[in-house]
Amino acid sequence: MAFISQIWEIGSPESASVYLTSLAKEPIRLQNFINNNFQDQSKASSWIDSFDPRSGKPLAQIPRSTTSDVDLAVDAAAKAFPSWSQVSRQERSNILLRIASVICSKKEVFATWESVDQGKSLARARVEVERAISNFRYFATYILHDEGSVRFIDGQPSTLTYEHRSPVGVFGLISPWNMPLYLLTWKIAPCIAFGCTGVAKPSEVTSISAFLLAEALRQANLPPGVMNIIFGDGPGAGSELVKCPRVRGISFTGGTSTGIQIRRETVTDIGKHVSLELGGKNPTLIFDDVNLVQAVPLAASAAFENSGQICLCGSRIYVQRNILGSFLSTFVEYVKENYQLGQTIGPVVSREHYAKVRSYLKQAQEEGAAFLTGGVPEADPKHGYWIAPTVLGNLPHDSRVMREEIFGPVVSICAFETEEEAIQLANDNPNGLSSVLLTQDASRMRRVGERIDAGLVWVNCWLVRELSTAFGGMKSSGVGREGGAHSREVFTNLRTIHVR
Ligand code: NDP
Repeated sequence: MAFISQIWEIGSPESASVYLTSLAKEPIRLQNFINNNFQDQSKASSWIDSFDPRSGKPLAQIPRSTTSDVDLAVDAAAKAFPSWSQVSRQERSNILLRIASVICSKKEVFATWESVDQGKSLARARVEVERAISNFRYFATYILHDEGSVRFIDGQPSTLTYEHRSPVGVFGLISPWNMPLYLLTWKIAPCIAFGCTGVAKPSEVTSISAFLLAEALRQANLPPGVMNIIFGDGPGAGSELVKCPRVRGISFTGGTSTGIQIRRETVTDIGKHVSLELGGKNPTLIFDDVNLVQAVPLAASAAFENSGQICLCGSRIYVQRNILGSFLSTFVEYVKENYQLGQTIGPVVSREHYAKVRSYLKQAQEEGAAFLTGGVPEADPKHGYWIAPTVLGNLPHDSRVMREEIFGPVVSICAFETEEEAIQLANDNPNGLSSVLLTQDASRMRRVGERIDAGLVWVNCWLVRELSTAFGGMKSSGVGREGGAHSREVFTNLRTIHVR
């Protein structure tokens, strides 16, 4: 059965629910997309089950791609590279804009399935689909307008020197499950815009929007082989892609331990471009000059958006001691009113992830943490992976709960006395992805903002982005930056030419 043609027409959670019921016991089966063809997976030797996070029921089956599937996809990308890398910028731009238009015409379909598959609210999914469209539009126009540097060598007016860029080659694009379409398109759009070809592998946990994206690429007439999408597990298909010598670059977003593994597997292939966007344990600093009416909703949204499953979520809140009491009571009240399970906040993505988040909550309980909201959820969830937004107090700074990324609806709150201590606490962590700073003091915004170990610092705001600016983390949160000219760095080789 061709599932793609069926799910491509389903644009509301209600119709998705009717459709899924009509399938009875047969889950949706995804197909690899190679050379613009959905592959016949009837002979796939093994499938990965993926479950509906809201109910825990089977939702989809993902082909567990093998080494030969990866080879087939890399073959297609390698064959497409010589001609694609020569296609004019204008033509590449036109194709990217067509992809954006196809997604745009099916916004509700993408949002529906992203919400069903990942457990995020439909509103959140809609925001992410808009961003996926912007990813294509942004790089479509970027390549038309970026400029290089050309000059005569000082004192030698007959010698011209200029910088020339060429696409690197075949890329492996590997993305996580928390913002599946948004993050995958953040890689696919610059990859093809800068003239590379690729093989993308989404997370096995949330692969449906990548399956839909394959159809969008096909309908936009992207030439065959330019972008191939294979499904499967990380240690299998993902790792094969990383190690493949014909793959000349890897753009990876995911957990730090996987990033370390990828670094290990590519260390001897010195010329392989590797960009690693990894995990975070991000601090939110709240100074005593803030207006709580503005600070509380901001800190809450940074903590609980997408059930805390955004790498940029602020999961450690540090509040200046003299406002701790008033902050806590307002924050707890606000969270109870505005983050209600099943209404404004969804489940976590999978049973495995539920168990991981639960283990941190259990540990917090054993360490005597105060549960200001939420609690330790049941060990064996029968009806979906629901974890209430949990606000923790009284945890020691060296607790694993305070130091490690939980990636769920869990935030811990501590006090600080001085600005210096706030900076020290914020930086006392191996990660350095993002941070939020809440203060009305303009000189403190710079004084503190410029000393926090984080690739992204938000002052009195959160999650707003300009796609031309650098995105990425310091310390264990990653290597390299993406966005605008930084993505150009990832996907192109730079040579300097001297002409007399
Ligand atoms: P993982 O690192 O487990 O997986 C990320 C991707 O890598 C998945 O597609 C996964 O496949 C694949 N993968 C797993 N093992 C390997 C391997 N050995 N070789 C190649 N690929 C592999 O992360 P999660 O999916 O659990 O995502 C959550 C993490 O992502 C969090 O740490 C979060 O902070 C981080 N993240 C970082 C962002 C950033 O921009 N810095 C943005 C969003 C998330 P599969 O799932 O099929 O096993």
